[in-house]
Amino acid sequence: MKLVFATHNHNKAKEIQSLLKECFEILTLTEIDCHDEIPETAETLEENSLLKAQFVSENFKVNCFADDTGLEIEALNGRPGVYSARYAGEEKSAEANMNRVLSELENSTDRNAQFRTVITLILEGKTHIFEGIVKGEIIREKRGTDGFGYDPIFVPEGQNKTFAEMTMAEKNLKSHRAIAFQKMIDFLSSN
Ligand code: IMP
Repeated sequence: MKLVFATHNHNKAKEIQSLLKECFEILTLTEIDCHDEIPETAETLEENSLLKAQFVSENFKVNCFADDTGLEIEALNGRPGVYSARYAGEEKSAEANMNRVLSELENSTDRNAQFRTVITLILEGKTHIFEGIVKGEIIREKRGTDGFGYDPIFVPEGQNKTFAEMTMAEKNLKSHRAIAFQKMIDFLSSN
């Protein structure tokens, strides 16, 4: 069965393909000739992933799924959350985003945060939602050079290293994205 991943990122798609049985063929937006920039205008991760999946489902009449991820910080009432990519401005600079978070938390002793991924799958017209959460804390200075986004300032619970100090394999083993995708894969594999 063909399943469209609402992303232009081939690597993300390849990763999921390698985890799924051969009966699922993962296609990216490029592969179905969708070159639109799908609007991500909603105010929650759930709504944003639903918007993306609905756009593809309605315009291309295919089974599909979309993901959306955010860093939710307790002392900031869940911000940057759905605004994680452009927290410090439209240029989507990871450095500027982290600097904004560090300065907003400068006087805060509550450093609790979580990464949350939401996936919306639309299969044969039915909507299914999967969630992956990794709890942890925001440290006071950046550490590590691997990864992306907020990785250098996030230490997962029970670990000493930031996500940016881990290898990709170490991070992917238990990341928010991996947890959410594994739930979808378990669902697809049992159906
Ligand atoms: P997306 O929904 O996967 O595009 O993620 C939105 C934004 O959240 C990214 O631009 C990053 O700023 C942040 N983000 C998502 N996943 C991660 C992660 O695994 N590590 C660090 N930052 C992340």
